[in-house]
Amino acid sequence: MKTIIYTCPYIPAEWIAAHGLHASRIVPDHVDADLSLARAEGVCPYVRSFIGQVMADKEAGGAVLTTVCDQMRRAFDIIVRNGAIPAFLMNVPNTWQTPAAQALYIDELKRLGRFLVQLGGTSPSDEALAEVMLEYDDARTSIRSAREYLSARRFADAIAQNRVCNKLHTLHAEPLVEGVPLALAGGPLMRSDYELFDMVEQLGGRIVLDATETGDRGMCPEFDRARLRKDPLRELARAYFGSIPDASRRPNSDLYEWLERELIGRAVRGIIFRRYLWCDLWHAELGRLKDRIELPVLDIDSAGENHLERPRISNRIRAFLEMLQ
Ligand code: SF4
Repeated sequence: MKTIIYTCPYIPAEWIAAHGLHASRIVPDHVDADLSLARAEGVCPYVRSFIGQVMADKEAGGAVLTTVCDQMRRAFDIIVRNGAIPAFLMNVPNTWQTPAAQALYIDELKRLGRFLVQLGGTSPSDEALAEVMLEYDDARTSIRSAREYLSARRFADAIAQNRVCNKLHTLHAEPLVEGVPLALAGGPLMRSDYELFDMVEQLGGRIVLDATETGDRGMCPEFDRARLRKDPLRELARAYFGSIPDASRRPNSDLYEWLERELIGRAVRGIIFRRYLWCDLWHAELGRLKDRIELPVLDIDSAGENHLERPRISNRIRAFLEMLQ
């Protein structure tokens, strides 16, 4: 079975899987960064690493990218020009509340479907799509119900595991550390960024809300089962395009509504705002977050050089926790 790789949360794994292909939402790492890019200055480290991983992948049958951010659009151009596998750019509108935007998203899913058929996939019936959606929905429900007895790192690992396979290994409960409850907010994390969860715990805190793109925030919410049975593709679009909050959306007030609800629900006392250098999208949200959310915010930027940045980040988190204790 061919594997289709992608990273954007607005690409439904269910749609790829229903075409009989394996959907793998990859988690790139700093070490994957494509060093052959003409310049690293000005390029988001996540995008650099994503390009590097796609270029190095000799097994994948295709890659899917979206127009959610300009840097990813440019990544598509680079992959098409220099990569070895077929790539598809899905148009995901930034405006999302109008019926026209929702119709465009569904049209784009159908266009993606035609690309998948060209790669050897089979166009699914409504029944086949509904069945796949139920499997993925059940897997996500298991992860969410395990949240209370998993460390933040294990919870992030479980989400990442679900990104490459809708079946989960058994999630065993583990002793949780006590610590100042914090949220981690921002764009996507790379694999080695998961060390942030451990660092926070060693310094006396605990991430109780992973509001990054690769965490809780980027997970598709539960499907409405009645709508799913009636029109699965429309329900798929509603759950992904209509419900996942992100800085890129216009308006993006749903991001703050989601954050406010989750921060209160988890009794969060401070927010670590983690962003990549050269990501204008998330940098622009920093001021808005501070204005809108009445909690202390620690801004941590990263150029994707964890080994050099670790001491600085650790010192800043320590000082932040001392201020909160
Ligand atoms: S972190 Fe920012 S620049 Fe990088 S992929 Fe995400 S939105 Fe784009």
